[in-house]
Amino acid sequence: MIRRLAAAGALWLLTAAVSPASAAWVQRVTDGIMGTRITVELWAEDQAQGEAAIDAVLDAMRHVDETMSTYKPTSEVSRVNAGAADAPMRISQELFDVLTEARKYSELTDGAFDITYASVGYLYDFRRHVRPDETQIASKLPAVDYRNVILDAANRTVRFARKGVRIDLGGIAKGYSVDLGIRALQARGITRAYVSAGGDSRIIGDRFGKPWMVGIRDPRKGPGSVITRIPLVDAAVSTSGDYERFFDEGGVRYHHIIDPHTGHSASKVRSATVIGPYAMRTDGLSKTAFVLGPQKAMQIYNRIEDIDAIIVELDGTVIYSKGLERAH
Ligand code: ADP
Ligand code: MG
Repeated sequence: MIRRLAAAGALWLLTAAVSPASAAWVQRVTDGIMGTRITVELWAEDQAQGEAAIDAVLDAMRHVDETMSTYKPTSEVSRVNAGAADAPMRISQELFDVLTEARKYSELTDGAFDITYASVGYLYDFRRHVRPDETQIASKLPAVDYRNVILDAANRTVRFARKGVRIDLGGIAKGYSVDLGIRALQARGITRAYVSAGGDSRIIGDRFGKPWMVGIRDPRKGPGSVITRIPLVDAAVSTSGDYERFFDEGGVRYHHIIDPHTGHSASKVRSATVIGPYAMRTDGLSKTAFVLGPQKAMQIYNRIEDIDAIIVELDGTVIYSKGLERAH
């Protein structure tokens, strides 16, 4: 992180590169893919190249939605949920790679990140204020364990170790889609861009000698208010918050991050922001603080070399990982 910030500082000193007269920043904000707001901003040779590049990003995101959404019964993930307890299922290389990556985050976070949370998680409906009772949770909880997802690389198959296992990639799919979008831009020769899907963003390049300034939202204020702004170049940043999808009942906030060990809504922090090299990784790791609490999560973030983090604790205290302590 220090290195990323230092690089940003050095770039500040450079003057703007000379560019053709029609070159421009092109931006688009779209709602409706993956149920979230997508923002793309990039530097293009001309408006038409920029618009075509943005179309390519949105195509990549629609593709992730089609393949990985559990709201779509035809998606590859839905088909896995329907069949993988019965027999090993051959899946696409892409899904296999995402599942392999998901397992890594489970191992890095002592199981706080766990895509099988959905074995209980599907019983919650945050929009309709529905949550399971203790008996329901107890009967589904044994299925929640990332080790229940058995991957066979030689045959490229996935199998569930028992009945009742469900997976949901809602904790990494947006981050993954941002990475895929960035890859589509790079394939088109774009070298300066910002892509975000909800709370997951990634940046390539800088803004002609200046870093991109990314605001970290204040969890208890409106979308426009920030607790801090961080200068970033070539980095990804993901924020998870207890204000995203939730309902309050009897003084308790139930929201969309589930503790895989208890099956309950995990509420140990207000928000966690993770900064790292790519968005699937920062997305996957941003859930940890809710489950493990600020201290334990920060220990884990500090241990992972390419990761930095900003956590807003329940009392509003903001804590920073080692790499950011001198920078903020
Ligand atoms: P967003 O959906 O806005 O990107 P987050 O990045 O915070 O928000 O991810 C929250 C999502 O992660 C939930 O909606 C759910 O799909 C998934 N999820 C919830 N709990 C876990 C968990 N313990 N491990 C992995 N994924 C989880
Ligand atoms: Mg996310």
